[in-house]
Amino acid sequence: NADSAMYEQKKSGKNGYCFFSHELEAQMKEKVELEGDLRRALAFNELILYYQPQYYAVHADHQTMIGVEALVRWNHPTRGLLTPEQFIPLAKETGFIFEIETWILREACRQMKAWQEQGGPLMPVWVNLSCVQFYQLNFKQKVVQILEETGLEPQYLGLEITEGTMMDPSFSEDVLSALDALGVRISLDDFGTGYSSLRYLQRSAIHRLKIDRSLTKNIVENSSNQVIVATIIAMARKLELDVIAEGIETRDQLNFLLGIECNDIQGFYFSRPLSARDIEEVLFAKNHYRSSSVEGQHSTI
Ligand code: C2E
Ligand code: MG
Ligand code: MG
Ligand code: MG
Repeated sequence: NADSAMYEQKKSGKNGYCFFSHELEAQMKEKVELEGDLRRALAFNELILYYQPQYYAVHADHQTMIGVEALVRWNHPTRGLLTPEQFIPLAKETGFIFEIETWILREACRQMKAWQEQGGPLMPVWVNLSCVQFYQLNFKQKVVQILEETGLEPQYLGLEITEGTMMDPSFSEDVLSALDALGVRISLDDFGTGYSSLRYLQRSAIHRLKIDRSLTKNIVENSSNQVIVATIIAMARKLELDVIAEGIETRDQLNFLLGIECNDIQGFYFSRPLSARDIEEVLFAKNHYRSSSVEGQHSTI
């Protein structure tokens, strides 16, 4: 009959459409499963924050930690450690992003305050925010509440938003200004990835530009990227914005950036994102602050 003919056709795999629909079905199934799992992830404490240090580098062997970026991971019971790319888009689609990001904000603030109380360095923890937060006028209240709850002073919280977020028609400049007035710092993440609209820089409460990895990745070889990055740095300086380069993996990349006076650096060259426990070894290391007096010594960082 027709059914069994269809079955044979599918099994044979010769029919491209059937093959595609099988793939799609599997994807849908996985998505539905993951969605259910995400519902429980928060309740079961499966989300964890990793922290990637950011450094001020004087030269390639002489650097001071100036902050950390909180990066979420999902310790899934059967799928293992999932990266943000594997679940943040789904969290956005399903609306869980609000709960998740509230948890991330609170956890990052709590952790930074705890480190400060244990004698750790006074520096901001930077948290990534998705665009949806900026459609909500009460987002500022959420931040105020979390800072009060955790006792973290506002200058030790940094928020990373992307250019794409600012370009969204629902984006609220008022929310950004309110956050600025609160004293938290705001960084434009993934700067230079294609949405660049320079007019956002002069009228907004932005404190820092973070140059995207796509521009720094091949900075040593690619002369047009060299020009773009050097221009971003010069512009940032004139606008009195801080600027940090991300994705720095090699000494050559680092030296190039230092040569054009970009001294704030984040990337695997200095450190990968670390679990809270692993980063504590760096935070509380005696020779954490490297100065000229320890010149010649090699850091374990
Ligand atoms: P991002 O904000 O641009 O974060 C930096 C990403 O680049 C991190 O990946 C980090 O591990 C990676 N990275 C840092 N240095 C290097 C390097 O030298 N080389 C290479 N190849 N990669 C480097 P991760 O943790 O997988 O995060 C990916 C993206 O996911 C982030 O990009 C951010 O947009 C998003 N994300 C992470 N955590 C959160 C979160 O808590 N909330 C939201 N909404 N998004 C998050
Ligand atoms: Mg970021
Ligand atoms: Mg980034
Ligand atoms: Mg990036």
